[in-house]
Amino acid sequence: MNKNYITSKDIERRGLMFVLSSPSGAGKTSLAKKLIDEEQNISMSVSMTTRKARKGEQNGKDYIFVTTEEFKQSIEKNELLEWAEVFGNHYGTPKTEVENQLKEGRDVLFDIDWQGTQQLHEKVGQDLVRVFILPPSVPVLEDRLKGRGQDDEKVVKARMKQAANQISHWAEYDYVIINDNLEESLSELKSILHAERLKRERRIGLSSFVRNMIQKM
Ligand code: ADP
Ligand code: 5GP
Repeated sequence: MNKNYITSKDIERRGLMFVLSSPSGAGKTSLAKKLIDEEQNISMSVSMTTRKARKGEQNGKDYIFVTTEEFKQSIEKNELLEWAEVFGNHYGTPKTEVENQLKEGRDVLFDIDWQGTQQLHEKVGQDLVRVFILPPSVPVLEDRLKGRGQDDEKVVKARMKQAANQISHWAEYDYVIINDNLEESLSELKSILHAERLKRERRIGLSSFVRNMIQKM
C-alpha cells in the first residue's frame, strides 16, 4: 500500500561501524553470525590474515588468507583501514569494501581486537560503535575454548593467557555484554544496534524532513 507520509526507516542516515571484540572463546563469532543472519542492512567486514585457515574456514568468507609478503604489500599500498599482530599472526581490515558499504548507508560489523578498535576510533570517531563481549567466568571461557574443538591444549592455554590482556581493554568500549545465554546476548546486541541507528547525528535526512514539516505548518 502506498503511504503519503514518512516513517523512521525512510530517513537517510550514515552507515555505522559496529565493532565486536572479546577474548578468544567468549562468543563473538557466534553472535556476529546470528546478528548478520537476523538483521537487515548490515554486513560483515572480511579481514585479511596471515594465519593458516582452520578446518571449515573458507577463503574470502571467513578471512582472506594471504602470505606475509602479500600482507606487507597491502600495508604499503595503504589498502588497510587498520591492522595488528595477534597471536603472532597479522590481521587487517581491507578498506574498499567497508567504504562502499558505508557509502550506501549500510552498516558494517567488525570482529577485530582492541588494537584495531583503537585505530578505527582515531580514524572515524562517532561513526564507530564499540561492543566488548565478556565471558561469564574464567572456567566457562576455558570450557568454550576446549568445546570449540579447534585448538589443542597448548593453544587453549596460550589463549587463556592472552585473554587477560584482551579483557584489560574493556573500558575502551561503549557497551559491554556478558555472554552467558546466547539468545539474551543477541537480544542485547540488537538493542544496541537499533538504538545507535536512531542517533540524531547519523540521520542526515532528518534536518530537511523537519524543515519541510515546519514550513507546512
Ligand atoms: P570467539 O569468536 O569469541 O572466539 P566463538 O563464537 O567461537 O568465540 O565461541 C566459542 C565457543 O563457545 C563455540 O563453541 C560457541 O558455540 C560457544 N558459545 C558461544 N557463546 C555461547 C553461549 N552463550 N553459551 C554457550 N556456548 C557458547
Ligand atoms: P582468530 O584467529 O581466532 O580468528 O582471531 C584472533 C583475533 O584476531 C580475534 O581477537 C579477532 O577479533 C582478531 N582479528 C580478526 N580480524 C582482525 C582484523 O582485521 N584486525 C584486527 N585488529 N584484529 C582482527
